[in-house]
Amino acid sequence: MSAQPCKPLPERSPKIGLGGLILLLALGSVLLTMANALYSSYRVQRDLLIRNTLEANRVYAAKLAQSTGAHLESTMQQLAYSAGLLAAAMDNPARVDEEAERLRLQTRSLNSVAIVRQDGMVLSVSPAALRRSGQSVKTDWGHTLLSTRTPAISEPFTSASGRLIIFISHPIINAEGRLLGYVGGTIYLNAKNLLHEILDNHYYRDSSYVYVVDRKGTVIFHPDDTHVGKSIFKNSVVLAVTSGAAGAQQILNQYGVEMLAGYAPVASTGWGIVAQRSTQATLADLNDLVLVTFGNSIPILLLSLVFILWFSRWISRPLGQLADDARMGTTPDGMARIERIQARYVEADRLKKALLRGMSLTSSKLDRLNHESITDALTGLRNRRGLDNALSLYELGGQSFAVITLDVDHFKSINDRYGHDVGDEVLTHIASLMRAGSRGGDMTCRNGGEEFVILLPGTTADNAFLIAERLREAVEKTPNPTGGVVTVSLGVAHFPSSAEEVGEVLKKSDIALYQAKRNGRNNTVRYQPEPAVQADSP
Ligand code: GH3
Ligand code: MG
Ligand code: MG
Repeated sequence: MSAQPCKPLPERSPKIGLGGLILLLALGSVLLTMANALYSSYRVQRDLLIRNTLEANRVYAAKLAQSTGAHLESTMQQLAYSAGLLAAAMDNPARVDEEAERLRLQTRSLNSVAIVRQDGMVLSVSPAALRRSGQSVKTDWGHTLLSTRTPAISEPFTSASGRLIIFISHPIINAEGRLLGYVGGTIYLNAKNLLHEILDNHYYRDSSYVYVVDRKGTVIFHPDDTHVGKSIFKNSVVLAVTSGAAGAQQILNQYGVEMLAGYAPVASTGWGIVAQRSTQATLADLNDLVLVTFGNSIPILLLSLVFILWFSRWISRPLGQLADDARMGTTPDGMARIERIQARYVEADRLKKALLRGMSLTSSKLDRLNHESITDALTGLRNRRGLDNALSLYELGGQSFAVITLDVDHFKSINDRYGHDVGDEVLTHIASLMRAGSRGGDMTCRNGGEEFVILLPGTTADNAFLIAERLREAVEKTPNPTGGVVTVSLGVAHFPSSAEEVGEVLKKSDIALYQAKRNGRNNTVRYQPEPAVQADSP
């Protein structure tokens, strides 16, 4: 007989399953790895982009500074050439006018040209619309130039017409070395001219821009005209470039916007050229890139999710099945189900084998205990409990059966005469005769002391009576451990003919047995409702 399936223990609190744990672990790892990869690639690209932009702006500012310097120098050379021509033609008004016009129109560098005589008289102005010819020089700068024998570039200043300009001039000196005057031209800083084109035409149309400050830190060129004329000397880039340094810096501008600025000075004027782009605009593409990268990885993420789900089930399923089926206990069905579980990996396989081994050990131990609990230790026959179990089973199955009750005659005196041990041997001897005389389905029991019972399923009372008689004779005639004669008395009853209830049959059989004793022992009595019939006597 096997143990009943265990009742499942009530769950105290819902617990997360192994599948869920694996899912969490794998998903957590995938997301963390992905976030880490995205973040580190973002950091690397961000730093690279910032470095590259700083370097590009540095190089660009340097290139613009060089172009601006070269342009001013070439303008100066043209002025020098004109000054050479004018040295021999200062007293020829037509030649002077012609030269002023040629200089302005041919170079495109200068917005206006003036030729001034040593006494301060303006000989010619181009374009003529400026109407300064015949007048005297009015500005301090103009007066200074009258006694200057070297080429000069003025600081930016606001002209009488309200324009921000620089004046670039070259002295006119004749062959004898006499200073005859100067030829000079203006460059409008916020109007169309070659310098403007150089500064405005920069490569980047992507929110990067260039501005120029003079040596005092005043903006003299800016794509947004409203900034021109403003002083921004506190800006660290401006401080650096106006002190003659070139380089690149990440700075906060006066509006608190972070900028990636490259800068370089123009040696001939002391100007500083700054090329810059906001960090935010520089990184905008990168932010989009991160979003796109994330978007691109979603299908892979979903695919991983499906795989993780499937795999977590694959791992947890055999364990879940083992747990479920183990609840059924050591029933043959439960063990057969565990046998069928596919343990796909080492641990599950070990668990399955251990479970099966444990169950079969428990099962055989239970069987043994069960067997012991219904077996009489001395004779090996079924004991009283075994007898009751068998009767219950017959009752359940509605089985008809006969009962033989057997009691050793004068057993007390056997004990007294031969000793208790011999008495025990006599009991064992009788048990073996009972076993020898019974068929496969019969149930031989020791009811206690020197009383025995045989249950004979499907046997009629008549046949049982014959079997009882055979046994009685066998006991009487077979040599026994006392060396003398041992006899037994037997009672026979039948279910359902002797009693309507199974529990009553034994009693009826006992009644018959007592009758046998009363009849003088060593005989068999079949239960009769009344009066009991004597069957045999010695
Ligand atoms: P009767 O013919 O009327 O049955 O007489 P009896 O002496 O057999 O009956 P009684 O019930 O007076 O005696 C039974 C004796 O069986 C008493 C007891 O000491 C002995 N006995 C009971 N169990 C055992 C046992 O396991 N071994 C031995 N050796 N003796 C036992
Ligand atoms: Mg007795
Ligand atoms: Mg007896």
